[in-house]
Amino acid sequence: MGADFWTSDHPAVATYARHVNPAFVKLLGLFGYGRLFIRARDVWVWDHLGRQYLDFLAGFGSANVGHNHPRLIERLRSFLGEEALNLCHVGPSPHAAELAEALAKLAEPLTVCLFASSGGEAVEAGLKLARAATGRAGFLYCQGGFHGTNLGTLSVMGEERMRKPFEPLLPGCEPVPYGDLAVLKAYLGTHRFAAFLVEPIQCEAGVVMPPAGYLAEAQDLCRRAGTLLVLDEVQTGLGRTGTMFAYQPDGFVPDVLVLAKALSGSLAPISAALTRPEVHAKAYGATDRFDLHGSTFAGNALSCVTALETLHVLADEELVANSKVRGAELLARLRERLAGHPLVREVRGRGLLVGVELGPTEKGFLNRLSPALVEMVSKKAFGQWVALRLLERGVICQPASQLWNVLKLEPPLTAQSVHVAQMVEALGDVLDEYRGVTPVLRDVTERLVRQFVAGWRF
Ligand code: PLP
Repeated sequence: MGADFWTSDHPAVATYARHVNPAFVKLLGLFGYGRLFIRARDVWVWDHLGRQYLDFLAGFGSANVGHNHPRLIERLRSFLGEEALNLCHVGPSPHAAELAEALAKLAEPLTVCLFASSGGEAVEAGLKLARAATGRAGFLYCQGGFHGTNLGTLSVMGEERMRKPFEPLLPGCEPVPYGDLAVLKAYLGTHRFAAFLVEPIQCEAGVVMPPAGYLAEAQDLCRRAGTLLVLDEVQTGLGRTGTMFAYQPDGFVPDVLVLAKALSGSLAPISAALTRPEVHAKAYGATDRFDLHGSTFAGNALSCVTALETLHVLADEELVANSKVRGAELLARLRERLAGHPLVREVRGRGLLVGVELGPTEKGFLNRLSPALVEMVSKKAFGQWVALRLLERGVICQPASQLWNVLKLEPPLTAQSVHVAQMVEALGDVLDEYRGVTPVLRDVTERLVRQFVAGWRF
């Protein structure tokens, strides 16, 4: 297969393939993806032909207030008219101060904030903070965990495929099984670790829910061992799981809370690592240490005003409560619609973060003949195929990036019952066509042949 084995009349496709990501376009061309997304508003996205899609991906959980919320647009317009100093490095920034104060109120007692621009950077801010505050070098992280693709965050990447090409990475990083307190306790007992990095729900590993009480107990073990618990709420934070932060129902507060994605209002990149004042003071409290962490765009005014308005919209429109109610409705309706389906293993989640795990639940003929083939098809192809079929029915969603047989559903928190119903109906209808792995294989093969005949038309 050559680099240009696909064809397309749309110049942006070729330009993207030539200058941004050739292999991605090649992969999309395999099935004839055929669309460029160019406009978005609330829960809706439109492609270059004007076709409308219901967005159940929402920028991987970034568009919690919906796309291009009119209040964010208005705030950005007025900000641009203010001739404010966007990058303020010559003294305290009033915009960063105001946002940090608003976040502190939400996350109390985590009242000091390190700003950054991406989730991965903010996770690294948390890890650096832990090293600087504890004087220890090691990091514990969870198998399956996903925290970004910088070299630091790759060192704590729970997925080998993503990590391997970049090794050797940071020394002293040890994986532990997610949800296993006994193993965690044993590692913590060595007193080598600055931080234990963990997600409250593992998003990209396939919406993996921890056992009840796991996080609170882990925080307790960490405190006794002098290790900081860094909670990665990059995807779960700001209402996604039906509470402002996912840790809140568990009755504990982490040492460090990492936020990103939704803080941006999906418009202006920004992230934050919040901690208690005494932890921050240990790390960066001295005048010869105040500048050990920072970056040019960290806490820029444009991103801060967007984030602040995002917090106001979340509160004024009661979107956290909506996430809880709508999420429960989504779970219940999916469970009812997909009950007994031979290719649906589980529907799980909290708030508007829901995973549908696909794969054979019983031993069909093909499974007895070739279990490895069935496992391969369900793991590698089925989730992507269902996502494509949903796209063709006007619904956007994606499998979890590290477990392709789990469809991850995470619409804007503005989603209403009618949107939940549309999603459930679309998924139910697509899955009705596939009650075994054989029809999946048949349809995928047919599509590949059709694409071959059409000259791999994008
Ligand atoms: N942490 C979690 C839980 C994530 O889901 C992601 C991205 O998907 C990240 C960190 C990395 O964020 P970013 O892509 O903004 O660097």
